[in-house]
Amino acid sequence: HPLVLSELIVDVVSRLEWVANEKNVSFEHTLNEEIIVFADRDRLDQVLTNIVQNAITYSKQFSSIFIELTTNNGKANIIIRDEGIGIPEKDLPHIMERFYRVNKARTRADGGTGLGLAIAEQIIKKHQGSINIHSKINEGTTVTISLPIFELE
Ligand code: ATP
Ligand code: MG
Repeated sequence: HPLVLSELIVDVVSRLEWVANEKNVSFEHTLNEEIIVFADRDRLDQVLTNIVQNAITYSKQFSSIFIELTTNNGKANIIIRDEGIGIPEKDLPHIMERFYRVNKARTRADGGTGLGLAIAEQIIKKHQGSINIHSKINEGTTVTISLPIFELE
């Protein structure tokens, strides 16, 4: 179904805002409100929820999470950037694998399963899109989701 992406993003962020507030993490967003994609709302909600949740979990106290929605060559780009602990270079190629988690001892307390990104990638692929992750240890992580824009003929 046609879906206004900025509305979904605002929804997801407001649902998770209190979790971020508890660790003094704030959201800053720049959203193009005109971007429409053809998508399963609940599935995309699940993807964004996981990625924003990851950003909060791995953020440092008193940092920000930046969310940007822009267009580029007929694609919608959702960029979620945190100033958190980052992902070691050696782990980065595996991060989308099922059950893969960096430093199991450190992250076990969060109760995650390591499935979030694997599921996210599957859902985004079903929508003819892609997910890219850039990260630098101790500086932060940027996740970019790219989806085809829905245009009326
Ligand atoms: P689940 O999402 O199933 O609750 P999870 O969050 O551990 O569990 P994924 O979302 O697939 O699983 O993420 C896999 C791993 O990638 C995480 O355990 C974490 O080590 C690392 N990771 C993901 N996002 C970030 C991020 N923004 N900053 C640092 N590390 C991250
Ligand atoms: Mg997760």
